Amino acid sequence: MTTFADLGLSAKLLKALEKTKLQTPTPIQAQAIPHIMQGRDLMGLAQTGTGKTAAFGLPLLHRLLDIGHPPGPKNVRALILAPTRELTLQIKDNLEVFTKGTAVKVTMVVGGASLFRQAQALSKGTDVLVATPGRLIDLLERGDVKLDQCGYLVLDEADHMLDMGFIHSLRKIAKHIPLKRQTLLFSATMPKDISEIADTYLRDPVRVQVATPGKTADKVTQGVHFLPNGDKARVLEDYLKKHPGEQALVFGRTKHGSEKLMKLLASWGFKAGSIHGNKSQSQRDRTLTEFRNGELDVLVATDVAARGIDIPTVRHVYNFDMPNVPENYVHRIGRTARAGAEGTSVSFCAPAEMGELQAIEKLLKKPLPILGGAPWAADIVAATPKPGQNRGQRPARPQGGRPQGSKPAGAKPQQGRPAAKAKPMGGGGAPRRAEGGKPAGNRRTS
Ligand code: ADP
Ligand code: MG
Repeated sequence: MTTFADLGLSAKLLKALEKTKLQTPTPIQAQAIPHIMQGRDLMGLAQTGTGKTAAFGLPLLHRLLDIGHPPGPKNVRALILAPTRELTLQIKDNLEVFTKGTAVKVTMVVGGASLFRQAQALSKGTDVLVATPGRLIDLLERGDVKLDQCGYLVLDEADHMLDMGFIHSLRKIAKHIPLKRQTLLFSATMPKDISEIADTYLRDPVRVQVATPGKTADKVTQGVHFLPNGDKARVLEDYLKKHPGEQALVFGRTKHGSEKLMKLLASWGFKAGSIHGNKSQSQRDRTLTEFRNGELDVLVATDVAARGIDIPTVRHVYNFDMPNVPENYVHRIGRTARAGAEGTSVSFCAPAEMGELQAIEKLLKKPLPILGGAPWAADIVAATPKPGQNRGQRPARPQGGRPQGSKPAGAKPQQGRPAAKAKPMGGGGAPRRAEGGKPAGNRRTS
């Protein structure tokens, strides 16, 4: 079996690794590290939880450790772009474990924090800058950071960055980086836009792949439960009660709905928290820390807020609302069964969500086992307002661009279905807006 020492990593890094749980390289690490050490551009395709951070982090640090003199003012030697603040922080924390006791400096810049302080932190230069694209562009435009000495560019979770206007941002950022550089791209899925980014920004890349994109973590036991929206909360309660003491991550589609669901679960006695775009960054950080520390049993999250976060203790993922993009299904269930643990995933499918389910099953190339209910008959689906159609007096949304996420409130299959005791997300009322109120393609922040 390959060891980290076999990969030729420097003694300093090997020593730092001894103190971590990283004892033998994961497959993506074993495959990617030698190429990166040779200076090749690389495209790494691997599901979440496969250890991509160390796959690029270790060889990058290996090269930076040897430099021996500090970077110039405002200069950056290696740039890592990641989609969210949480991920950026996670990468920085990971790298700092590896660089402990060395002179290599890691800095992060993200939105929602003081620009002034970030500019100050960069004024003396940094070896590694981990950044979200938006904030980096702000700093570049202000002249607070220089990338003309940057020899490494890492695009982490590139597919996740796409719906945040990434293609546009990358164009702006890449202009500042010399062409003579090493570029690494990591992604769990390989949509067409990502191949195009790879063609544009990578030079003769090695392609390293450890599982078919779209293939879900093998260790996750998956299933689907058919039920009307109004029954979802009670059924979720049943599932949660079946696994006391095991942490669950619940995905809601909207900020508002996720918050309501969290409050409902809390009122039922669960230690529940939520992360979504309506929470301040410090609230999100606090909630994530509480969840990681086991002070919370249930975390309700939206896709954007939960992107890439690493919570190894999650045992169960519930898709309270089906993801509106099938790739997000893979990302969601990748939150469990991380680093070799077992996990389960249950997807709740209301009549209006049959299309999403079919898209997921097509991506997975297999049907999800049925855990409850029965697939909705075509006539029930037809009688259900489709996402984007509002019930009641308000006019339907214009046709055309698919309004993601605006599942009509109270998408009940039929009159006369058993009324749910609680209706946190689907229980009538005013039509809700999608998270951010915009089509996903325009979403900027979580
Ligand atoms: P990805 O970026 O592919 O989603 P991460 O880099 O976040 O994965 O790693 C997922 C989890 O696996 C983290 O908790 C990390 O510490 C752990 N991990 C990474 N590499 C190894 C390894 N070689 N051995 C054991 N655990 C590892
Ligand atoms: Mg990652």
